[in-house]
Amino acid sequence: MSKKLALVFTLSLMIFLLAGSVGCAESLFGSLTLGLEKNIGLYNYQSVTMEKRVVQLPPAKAEHLNELFERLVSHSARRNELHFRLTVIRDDSVNAFALPGGYVFVNTGLLSYVKNDSELAGVLGHEIAHIDRSHSMKSIYRSAGISMALVLLLNNDNNDDARRKQIFSEIAGVSMRLAQLGYSRNAEFEADRYGLAIMEKSGYNKQDLLNFWRRFRAQSAEPEQGKAFTILSTHPPTSERIRQIESLP
Ligand SMILES: [Zn+2]
Repeated sequence: MSKKLALVFTLSLMIFLLAGSVGCAESLFGSLTLGLEKNIGLYNYQSVTMEKRVVQLPPAKAEHLNELFERLVSHSARRNELHFRLTVIRDDSVNAFALPGGYVFVNTGLLSYVKNDSELAGVLGHEIAHIDRSHSMKSIYRSAGISMALVLLLNNDNNDDARRKQIFSEIAGVSMRLAQLGYSRNAEFEADRYGLAIMEKSGYNKQDLLNFWRRFRAQSAEPEQGKAFTILSTHPPTSERIRQIESLP
């Protein structure tokens, strides 16, 4: 593709993206961005599983956990376009996180902290919600990353492979940081709302999620417990999240 043509193509796609138009261009763009999301997810999944210790649970426990996860995934709006998978990490901190493309991680610290399946379903529903609502990819497209993402999507002639690789790892880094440190306040609240809906459609109880967060709030305030609770409790403050969940129908 010539540079001029690439520029015209880029601008047209940006206009379609910004205007939110429907039709062929959007579905073309949709499949390009879906491909990019899957690549970023896989790339980050591979780095997480290289850096952290992946746990193979005993068969009965693994089966039970997978059933719970699949039940939640069956209420995901993106279940047909993504392959959702859950990976258990050996780590004592009470945490779970999601990467674009359908990759959800849960720490052994969270598995032993929850009192029942319903509490776990509440936390995992929240993580699936981040993926369903494309929080990671939206942040990438909204930020300075949009022009970089378009370079990745359009420049397939491999003239400048080193640059493509550099851009790709920068974009993948953005989604990794979001997954580890938390999304914007609005995205977190949205994931709480949407995740609660997934949890309830799957037959779990909102009260259990509230119990989880109340216990979490009380125990993360204890100084000797502080470290194990840091990540999941970054923001918004737990009390605000509890208030929002309480206020939902
Ligand atoms: Zn979150």
